[in-house]
Amino acid sequence: MSNINIDNLSYEDAIKFIGSSVDCVIIVDDETDRYKALKKGGMFANYIADEGDYIELVKKLWYHFNNSSEDITEDYHVFIPNEGKFRGKYSKRVNICENDITHVVQMYVYPIEVNQTYLFVLDELEKGMFINEELTVEKVNTIQNTYLFSMYIDLVQDTTSSISVTEISDDVMRQEIKYSEWRKMIINMIWPDDQALFLERTDPEYLKKNLAPGRTTSFDCLMMNLEGKYIWVKLIFSRSETSNEDDFRFVFMVQNIHENSIELLETMKKYEQLASRDSLTNVFNHGRMETEIRNALKEKRSKNREVSLMILDIDFFKHVNDKFGHSTGDVTLVQFTKIISDYIRDLNAVLGRWGGEEFVVVCYDTGNEKAYALAEGLRRTISEEPFGKIGQITCSIGVTTINADDSFDDAFNRMDRALYNAKSSGRNCVKSV
Ligand code: GH3
Ligand code: MG
Ligand code: MG
Repeated sequence: MSNINIDNLSYEDAIKFIGSSVDCVIIVDDETDRYKALKKGGMFANYIADEGDYIELVKKLWYHFNNSSEDITEDYHVFIPNEGKFRGKYSKRVNICENDITHVVQMYVYPIEVNQTYLFVLDELEKGMFINEELTVEKVNTIQNTYLFSMYIDLVQDTTSSISVTEISDDVMRQEIKYSEWRKMIINMIWPDDQALFLERTDPEYLKKNLAPGRTTSFDCLMMNLEGKYIWVKLIFSRSETSNEDDFRFVFMVQNIHENSIELLETMKKYEQLASRDSLTNVFNHGRMETEIRNALKEKRSKNREVSLMILDIDFFKHVNDKFGHSTGDVTLVQFTKIISDYIRDLNAVLGRWGGEEFVVVCYDTGNEKAYALAEGLRRTISEEPFGKIGQITCSIGVTTINADDSFDDAFNRMDRALYNAKSSGRNCVKSV
């Protein structure tokens, strides 16, 4: 049984009751950017100063992640509800984190004078005194956690509505941003190299031309997140189903695809590595070396960089296979490759297997004389190296230097001719053409 008889309770009693039960009352003058606390109880006794800048108050109440005291990056302030301006009454439940404890606060804003003087009433809700929303919130979060941002766009009226930034708040944000303004605001959050793509794909004329009613388009780019770090996101535009071809309404969403993208990029790098390596010797394969030679031709043509090519072919390798078996032949090829890569380790040179027992080296910043000397040193080293049970092997080397007007075939044929000369001069020697 209650001790209060409602028939004896006056309006003044009710006001007194409200006055003693709310934790904090603040008056704000938005024109002078000042606030003054009229009452500060409970958690607000220390959290809110007696007076100060209004912007500081806005920061404390809004400019942080939903469940932490961490500030969000400044670019996102623009999406905060009303940006601290109020035309009508406003109420919201906010989570305020102080010393790692999250307080649930019911906030009411009463504009006394539109866009100028407001009364803020703040009340911390004790656990158990409010309906626990966590279950539903969690459920929504699992669906939404990859969606950072969403809004509704009308291109004809150049309006946006129902903007929401999932990590700041679960309710709708600033209402009155023009789409054309929004593009200008968000461009700063896009990675500089992706800005041209962003402008092209968010251009109203592009969207009108390329997206039929009911269709969806998307593109990926790097965008600053609320913490100010660039992450991979997917920007998705979905045009409303409509029979009016002059109706251009879209739903826009930003999805966080960072972790998947990073994984994908790493996998792709691995594939590229695999695709460009020879599986037996692990040096570059034929295809990759063709690209290397073409790149070298371009270096010569565009920068007049000196580049020489050499081809090494093991002498009488067929005998090795015939006498010791194919698997010993394989081991020999691996050892042969290792000698060359050790020899050129500190040089600006790239080694690859051209095929069978033939290897090509692209030597950058190397003229003809230097290339010849390098080949000669390599030939001698190989001829002196013991190859296990097969003993000694030798190789013949053809060398050429790239000319500015060389085609791929010009350079390659000269190198091949040089090798032929080395073979026909008795092998185990270097020839240059
Ligand atoms: P030359 O001095 O004229 O170069 O004689 P060669 O025997 O080295 O030349 P030829 O082109 O007649 O033979 C090359 C041999 O290399 C034939 C082939 O069995 C062997 N070969 C090619 N690829 C491989 C491989 O991957 N493993 C092994 N074990 N042998 C290979
Ligand atoms: Mg050969
Ligand atoms: Mg050979």
